[in-house]
Amino acid sequence: ESKLQLVHRHIRAFPDFPKKGILFRDICPILKDAAALTAVIDLFEEHVRNNHQQVDLIVGLDARGFLFGPLLAQRLGIGFVLIRKKGKLPGATVSVSYDLEYGKAEAEVQEDAVAAGQKVLLIDDLLATGGTLYAACELMKKLQAEVLGCMVVIELKELNGIDKLKTHNVFSLVQY
Ligand code: IMP
Repeated sequence: ESKLQLVHRHIRAFPDFPKKGILFRDICPILKDAAALTAVIDLFEEHVRNNHQQVDLIVGLDARGFLFGPLLAQRLGIGFVLIRKKGKLPGATVSVSYDLEYGKAEAEVQEDAVAAGQKVLLIDDLLATGGTLYAACELMKKLQAEVLGCMVVIELKELNGIDKLKTHNVFSLVQY
């Protein structure tokens, strides 16, 4: 079994969650299986080493980007930065509001989290409409960081999130 097959086998789907009509992809089984989680980080690490040797920081999205981002950053020997939902971060922050697949939200990052000119890779569990990663890119732009690309475990192809992010490079492990 390949690493990708192992990852694939540890993703579940729940119909009508959190709202009717939404098929929710659940990555919890990946976290519960040491080999599957290692496979995810191996595949991300390989992608970064092959494509983004200049990366300074991994930037994770609230909340499931926090599950994979720090593990990847540690493998790469670089730091990890959090983009959080509004009101969770102390000190000076910059924020941006955006639309979700199911609702509205505001994202925030600490003003000193990334220095101007630093090269970052964004990470989350899943790309749906692209609204969340787009907002994260906007936050990085406000801090004058350079977004090298986005990484997700899952990409929901039919929602065309990648078009929203067309100026950025998006890497996904599993596509539906
Ligand atoms: P987007 O902004 O529409 O691309 O939605 C992506 C964000 O919503 C990510 O932070 C995901 O964690 C979350 N999300 C949307 N759909 C799903 C799903 O089916 N499973 C898990 N997370 C999802």
